[in-house]
Amino acid sequence: MTKTFTGTLFIFSAPSGAGKTSLVKALLNSTGYIGVSVSHTTRMPRPGEENGKDYNFVSREQFQELIDAGAFLEHAQVFDNFYGTSQDWVESELEAGRDVILEIDWQGAEQVRKQMTGAVSVFIAPPSIEALQQRLQNRGQDSEDIIARRMRDAKSEMSHYGEYDYLIINDDFNNTVEELRAIIIARRHRLEAQRIRHADTLKNLLG
Ligand code: 5GP
Repeated sequence: MTKTFTGTLFIFSAPSGAGKTSLVKALLNSTGYIGVSVSHTTRMPRPGEENGKDYNFVSREQFQELIDAGAFLEHAQVFDNFYGTSQDWVESELEAGRDVILEIDWQGAEQVRKQMTGAVSVFIAPPSIEALQQRLQNRGQDSEDIIARRMRDAKSEMSHYGEYDYLIINDDFNNTVEELRAIIIARRHRLEAQRIRHADTLKNLLG
């Protein structure tokens, strides 16, 4: 059974290196009533990543326990690691009327679409394959063979763009933030959600 929420669930997918994480940070700073879900992962932290902030870093055993406990809205193996979204956190935010962004891959997006019919999915692509390669190299956190592998995986992730409601090309960072904001703000004002949010105002207006 699908539930109805006042907040909107946004799914953002992108190949690694398309700039998704920086875009989401900028969006959170410029848009109220929105949060990003902190996923669980079995991957090792990269330099500068904080447990509980960037990800909840867990062992494979802990991850399996969370699956068994039904704690995930979705979970998937991406590259060589497992990633999952906490169902309770997401649902309590949506229930409280706040919007939620999930930064997840196409497999997770597919699972979420099936369960949350009101979810809005956005695919963020880099402007060119050269730009993607450059961004992966500039990050300087992964070795050459990992970068080569991620380039191959990026192409496979990008082949799923047609499954999304919106497609954004991240050429100019500030423009992209504005485009994402426009999608969020427009969805927030849909009649179904506004009726619940502004029930008192509507009652007052109509007497
Ligand atoms: P990274 O390890 O570079 O942070 O993320 C690798 C990939 O895993 C990205 O495509 C990212 O969107 C995806 N990912 C991160 N968290 C989750 C999650 O909770 N669920 C799913 N399905 N994918 C995730």
